[in-house]
Amino acid sequence: MTHIFHRSPLTPPKLAARGQSNYLIDASGRRYYDGSGGAAVSCLGHGHPEVIDAMIEQLRKLEYAHTSFFSSEPAERLADTLVRQSPAGLGHVYFLSSGSEAVEAALKMARQYHVERGERTRRHTIGRLQSYHGNTLGALAIGGHQGRRALYQPLLVESHHVSPCFARHYRLAGETDDAYGTRLAQELEQTILALGPETVSAFIAETVVGATAGAVCAVPGYFEKIRRVCDRHGVLLILDEVMCGLGRTGAYHAFQREGVEPDLLCLAKGLGGGYQPIAAVMAQEKIVDAIVSGSGAFQHGHTYIGHPVACAAALAVQNIIERDGLVRRSAQLGETLHRLLRDRFGGHPHVGDIRGRGLFQAIELVARREPDTPFDPDLRLHALIKREALARGLACYPGGGTMDGVRGDHVLLAPPFLATQAELEEAVDILAAAVDAAIASVG
Ligand code: PLP
Repeated sequence: MTHIFHRSPLTPPKLAARGQSNYLIDASGRRYYDGSGGAAVSCLGHGHPEVIDAMIEQLRKLEYAHTSFFSSEPAERLADTLVRQSPAGLGHVYFLSSGSEAVEAALKMARQYHVERGERTRRHTIGRLQSYHGNTLGALAIGGHQGRRALYQPLLVESHHVSPCFARHYRLAGETDDAYGTRLAQELEQTILALGPETVSAFIAETVVGATAGAVCAVPGYFEKIRRVCDRHGVLLILDEVMCGLGRTGAYHAFQREGVEPDLLCLAKGLGGGYQPIAAVMAQEKIVDAIVSGSGAFQHGHTYIGHPVACAAALAVQNIIERDGLVRRSAQLGETLHRLLRDRFGGHPHVGDIRGRGLFQAIELVARREPDTPFDPDLRLHALIKREALARGLACYPGGGTMDGVRGDHVLLAPPFLATQAELEEAVDILAAAVDAAIASVG
């Protein structure tokens, strides 16, 4: 055992020695295609010289200044960039260092907004089952990932969960998209009414679900209906785009495809592209106005928020994405990847679904297609596929199988926006071999 307390101490991971464009290279010199950008993080791949230069330049000027004394130029410019690329109302940015911190800050901002407006009774937050919003206690509480919550249940603040929007598994026979979305919006409204609307602060959802279910988009109209329910009851809508945001789904913000705007938006992974740990909450004017004209200060803060080098890295990443048209590239390459997955797995007896948007695509494994039957979760097929893929030179992001209520196993692909078609073809080839080897190994 090494001295690092690894996630799985008995099977510590390989050493990644270097990164080179869209590949990771281990200590023995073996190359692995970064098919999921870690966890949808590395949008520009590894070793991008412009990002590295921007970080070094910032380090030479100023490595750190505490935000209670000073702001910094890269932080101000990064906020300007995010606001300029977002719908008009999302006019303010609060920086953090991780997705979990962004979710915690958004939950607290929502609560403070209500208190500042004299609605002190608004304290409940509603999330969805089969969601993931982070591992800190507040984010864990509002997430619906039962496997990760179970051990800590007694410590989690009271929270409430409604059904996910996952048509493949939960739409009733004969139910239209419209009727399904309406049913889910009614469920949210009933939950708000049961708690008492005057006690509900916010509803939080991933715009496209990542870790728990694998690139699951809501049915058309779902978010508009949800938005209307929230508005009717004065409940804030928080969208968590920590994983699916900033070009990953082929739109700058995933919500721009849903016809809604959130009150609060959580961003992280693709913001710094892995060059630095950085996250953000974007807030509508009304939220910041209520706080500024009320007590005058958001009651929150961490030592490393708005870190100048992290902001310089993220600014460079976001500038490159904008300059090089990489959101459009994510949309186009996403179509290519989707087609490659369809060509390869469309007739596969053990692939029941191929889904996603942009460079955020997943396959779902099934023991049988007819009737649609998942593999026994105890087989942990997704973990076996991850292992087989890594042995063949592909890093991909597995999930499912062990999470309460999630049917089946899936594998998520979220390659860098600078991926090439040839790389995607190779990744899909390796994934196919890994899927077959993993299924053969479980008989
Ligand atoms: N929210 C979503 C949607 C995520 O996918 C994640 C991480 O996977 C988080 C929040 C937590 O982010 P972090 O791991 O940076 O704390």
